[in-house]
Amino acid sequence: QIKVVSGLDHEMLSQVTVAYNKDPSPVKLNLGVGAYRIEVSFSFLFYRPSVLEMPYSRYCSYRISCCNGLSYLCLISGRSRVKEYLPITGLAEFNKLSAKLMFGEDSPAIRENRVTTVQCLSGTGSLRVGGEFLAKHYHERTIYIPQPTWGNHPKIFTLAGLSVKTYRYYDPATRGLHFHGLLEDLGSAPSGAIVLLHACAHNPTGVDPTIQQWQKIRQLMRSKGLLPFFDSAYQGFASGSLDTDAKPVRMFVADGGECLLAQSYAKNMGLYGERVGALSIVCKTADVASKVESQLKLVIRPMFSNPPIHGASIVATILRDRNLFGEWTVELKAMADRIISMRQKLFDALRARGTPGDWSHIIKQIGMFTFTGLNKEQVTIMTKEYHIYMTSDGRISMAGLSSKTIPHLADAMHAAVTR
Ligand code: PMP
Repeated sequence: QIKVVSGLDHEMLSQVTVAYNKDPSPVKLNLGVGAYRIEVSFSFLFYRPSVLEMPYSRYCSYRISCCNGLSYLCLISGRSRVKEYLPITGLAEFNKLSAKLMFGEDSPAIRENRVTTVQCLSGTGSLRVGGEFLAKHYHERTIYIPQPTWGNHPKIFTLAGLSVKTYRYYDPATRGLHFHGLLEDLGSAPSGAIVLLHACAHNPTGVDPTIQQWQKIRQLMRSKGLLPFFDSAYQGFASGSLDTDAKPVRMFVADGGECLLAQSYAKNMGLYGERVGALSIVCKTADVASKVESQLKLVIRPMFSNPPIHGASIVATILRDRNLFGEWTVELKAMADRIISMRQKLFDALRARGTPGDWSHIIKQIGMFTFTGLNKEQVTIMTKEYHIYMTSDGRISMAGLSSKTIPHLADAMHAAVTR
């Protein structure tokens, strides 16, 4: 007989969604989930439902225009309806193009065959495979993760066999980067330790280092021999430019040192459920890179054997085709701009209500999330009285807002902080 206690209680986000689904209020708002919504309707993700039902076919693409003018490309490929197994490392072209997307077209590391890339199950799976690889083959088993960070990070790395420690990242006093604390904590980490870095649009805080601060972090890490492990779940969402968002990673690769990278296409291509992502390991030599690839196969094979084909084909088709790629970048920019405009509107709405406090962090923070600074009690008021659902740390998803819902959110925030 199997005897276990319920695990659901420990999942903050699933609790939020369960409570939201049960709430019959017509004004209810779920700002917990990190999924992009368009302006017109909350039930839309990127696609119209019709797109999801389209057959899988090769060599043709459709553009779907959403009601607000945003368009999204969807792939349909398939005369041949390929459903064969992929190799253990996934779709080779997808891997190559994914590495180029982050490291750059002219990356010397790619040219010198020092990068090994394997397709994994979205960002989560890429982090897990990277974690397992390091636990098996890297001499230092401690990984430093930012405080706070995405709730899944400590669990992924602990289960992968690494020992998890934190470094200071967010300063509640300034609602910005705790730069001094970060440097101090990484400075006292043991030489060779692994450091998890959010490539851009830090989740949950929305606070990213400036380029100058990244340079200092890089110098410190390289001087101490710390190994960077980048988590990139939001490339294109922070600035609206794929290349700009890739700058911190490229800066680390340009110095010739090693690093790991977990890429997710869930958010920036709207392929949440396709579970498509990649793990890259940048090595010092081509010989090491090829040995690393052989060991990654040994990690992947007993874990999920080989990755799914559909999502990777969609991504490869968009990345390989100049026109499709161009359209995708335009759409990414539109999404990033819409999030930025939601930030401004929320800031203006709070100012208009005379809500006490400095809310400038709402416009300063970057990416999908805002760390509002609301405490647990204030979040409870928002949920109980205003039917607004969010995680108890005060994080809201800016991508889940629309012009129509901002006044309601601002009223709730005003009430919560003036109570
Ligand atoms: N890293 C961060 C920081 C995230 O926010 C997310 C998604 N919430 C992921 C990784 C992984 O997401 P997925 O597995 O859906 O790609």
